[in-house]
Amino acid sequence: NGHMHQTDVVIVGAGPVGLFAVFECGMVRLRCHVVDVLEDVGGQCTALYPEKPIYDIPGFPRVEAAELIVRLKAQAAPFQPVYHLGQQVQSLEPATGGFWQLTTSKGTVIQARAVIVAAGVGAFGPNRPPLDGIEAFEGKSVFYYVTQRESFRGKRVVIAGGGDTAVDWALSLAEVAARVSVVHRRDRFRAAPESESRLKALVAAGKIDLVVPYQLQSLDGVDGRLMAVNVATLDGVEKKIPADILLPFFGLSMSLGPIAEWGLALERNQISIDPATAATNRPGLFAVGDVVTYPGKLKLILTGFAEAAVAARSAYGLIHPEQPLHFEYSTTSGVPAA
Ligand code: FAD
Repeated sequence: NGHMHQTDVVIVGAGPVGLFAVFECGMVRLRCHVVDVLEDVGGQCTALYPEKPIYDIPGFPRVEAAELIVRLKAQAAPFQPVYHLGQQVQSLEPATGGFWQLTTSKGTVIQARAVIVAAGVGAFGPNRPPLDGIEAFEGKSVFYYVTQRESFRGKRVVIAGGGDTAVDWALSLAEVAARVSVVHRRDRFRAAPESESRLKALVAAGKIDLVVPYQLQSLDGVDGRLMAVNVATLDGVEKKIPADILLPFFGLSMSLGPIAEWGLALERNQISIDPATAATNRPGLFAVGDVVTYPGKLKLILTGFAEAAVAARSAYGLIHPEQPLHFEYSTTSGVPAA
């Protein structure tokens, strides 16, 4: 990090669509670097629903989101993409020689002839409860996503929130955790009625503690290791819940973040593209996947894949205007052995 790189294409976002864009660029012999703010590739599939099956990927009657990502990464691997993970793309500016220059939060600088923005819902992040010192616990005993429910086996888990995510995880974790407490500021939930009645049944059976109407107040613990969650009512009645894990589920806030400052034409927080080319209003900047909009856009993975194929050919045309691309099928052009 802090390094300077030069390449054909830089892809902003390593979600399913960004990963497939590596493959499509590889097919037209463009080299890629890929940047993602998350520590792992896979975007929403990895961060939000790794264990959920997907039923609408052509050729896969059913595939778990995490498995789809493993396969997309393997499909891109022969083209030797360079990944820069755990860093947010912050600035994007024109550089000399027809390059765009991108700088990340870790100081990595990448120059590329074309940029494909595959930033999904943007720099999406959880709504964090305003608790003093919560940062020290994040990733150790405070989590905003569950990626592996097994890691909570035998733990005392406090879930905060009143929506579907809070209720669904309470039901699921009640099967493995030593103790599950649900803290919510009201006694009514905003969850599917079926889930809410299952929750109430588990509460009645003594399997889940319902802590309502309480709000999070502070955390006890040392070195990121949680010992108790303190909660209080609006009237100031306090309670201490011994706990190893806190899962605050207050929804996600999605914002384009720095991307909104790159001079791209936007429509309701999404990037307008010409679907025939995936081009944005700025020459050399293309966009694909959930981050884009155009008439008829479907926010589906398969639609993003098709946009990636279009963007790769547009990038090729920009980078090699003198060598028209002869359309080839993957079988005839040959994918290098992994
Ligand atoms: P994303 O997956 O959102 O990935 C974008 C990536 O860009 C993220 O990793 C983000 O961290 C990164 N990023 C953003 N800004 C920056 C920045 N400035 N710097 C660095 N990195 C950045 N679709 C289907 O087709 N079928 C389904 O069954 C289905 N089920 C779903 C179920 C759920 C619960 C959810 C939430 C979505 C579902 N979807 C489904 C939608 C699907 O997940 C999205 O369409 C898909 O993830 C879009 O892929 P993407 O690569 O465009 O964006």
